[in-house]
Amino acid sequence: MEYVKLINCMRCGMCLPHCPTYKETFLETASPRGRVALMRKIEEGELEASERLLEYLSLCLDCQACATACPCGVNAGEMVAEFKCERHEGRGLSVMEDLVLRKLLPHPDRLEAAVAPMRAYQRSGLQKIVRSLGILKMFPPAIGRMEGLLPELPARPLRRTIDEVTPAVGEERGRVGFFLGCVMSLVFSEASYATVQLLSALGYTVVTPKAQKCCGAPNMLAGDREGLLEAARFNVDLFAGHDLDFIVTDCGGCGAELKKYGHHLAGDEAAAAFGNRVRDISQVLSLHGDELREKLTPLPLTVTYHDPCHIAHCQGIRQEPRSLLKLVPGLDCRELAEADACCGSAGTYNIEKPEMSDRVLSRKIATIKATGAEVLVTSNPGCLLQLKKALAEETPPVRVMHLTEVLHRSLSPR
Ligand code: SF4
Ligand code: SF4
Repeated sequence: MEYVKLINCMRCGMCLPHCPTYKETFLETASPRGRVALMRKIEEGELEASERLLEYLSLCLDCQACATACPCGVNAGEMVAEFKCERHEGRGLSVMEDLVLRKLLPHPDRLEAAVAPMRAYQRSGLQKIVRSLGILKMFPPAIGRMEGLLPELPARPLRRTIDEVTPAVGEERGRVGFFLGCVMSLVFSEASYATVQLLSALGYTVVTPKAQKCCGAPNMLAGDREGLLEAARFNVDLFAGHDLDFIVTDCGGCGAELKKYGHHLAGDEAAAAFGNRVRDISQVLSLHGDELREKLTPLPLTVTYHDPCHIAHCQGIRQEPRSLLKLVPGLDCRELAEADACCGSAGTYNIEKPEMSDRVLSRKIATIKATGAEVLVTSNPGCLLQLKKALAEETPPVRVMHLTEVLHRSLSPR
């Protein structure tokens, strides 16, 4: 960790009202300012990195709302992630981490094979029986939470069904690469299918290299820098083989990580070029707003938009998704209070820190309900998983859709 980053904090406290864990606890140690102070004391040798101190740091969601609020450019969330990464580096990977991060995630075929039993569990009716009998209560709570988050899986992952090249409709205006996020392909394939169709309808030829690997964000989260760099190098080389205007993703988490490839592989020109070409889908669609408006048909729905942290705070994208929704005739768009506050999903945080995750989620649900919207729109798989489950349990339930699903529904009404 660069020491200069730690001393930039002038302790003004402007980040405090924006930090989800501070809002829940009012504890300085659970605030961005407190976390920066703790890391500084540890780095200066004044405090020992005890389990308790590390626990305070690990309560951070890495939502980066603090970075948006800080006038000095301090990014406490990123610094905590970096700090955890450095501490992990020395100790190597556990057997389970090695299995997931090295043997599973970088191999899409294996990942898809691992999900197949879950699909069978749902489709055979076993899931209904297990849930109705409360069998999951006999397992560790984390298993029950993971199972509860799982929405209905598509028949096949998108990577298996999509063509490597989807031609442009009409005259080609450009070629884009599509980065298939692991969860988007496995769980939210309909939304990613919609993404590709929208790009194609606007005149882009969409190239989806099937060999692409996980973006490496889970490796970064777990402190596996080597795994992250391997994923970055592989994806940079793979996409470099195609002549692309942009590399598009509809996954906020992937987009935030892919844009940092140039930083991760410092000095590598191809990685820098790759990072500069990455766009969130909302950024590309917004370039063609007038054209898109002409293609859209009425969709009489009341919607509200939740800003995923990885899109609003990490990539600074706020206006584009809202402007796109406003193009849809008949759509009643209601602004969500604290729309860019974290929903508590944060990677595997909702499994590892269930109590804090639920507290953060409750605030989000209350603001969504207050809008009276029938549909919550967002664009990150973690948020989709977390909010789909919670909002399905509300009365009346609120549907959750990816931004591209809404636009595609309006483009090709069913
Ligand atoms: S992190 Fe930034 S906003 Fe928060 S106390 Fe320090 S300088 Fe102020
Ligand atoms: S990243 Fe989020 S949870 Fe962590 S310190 Fe910043 S605002 Fe708080």
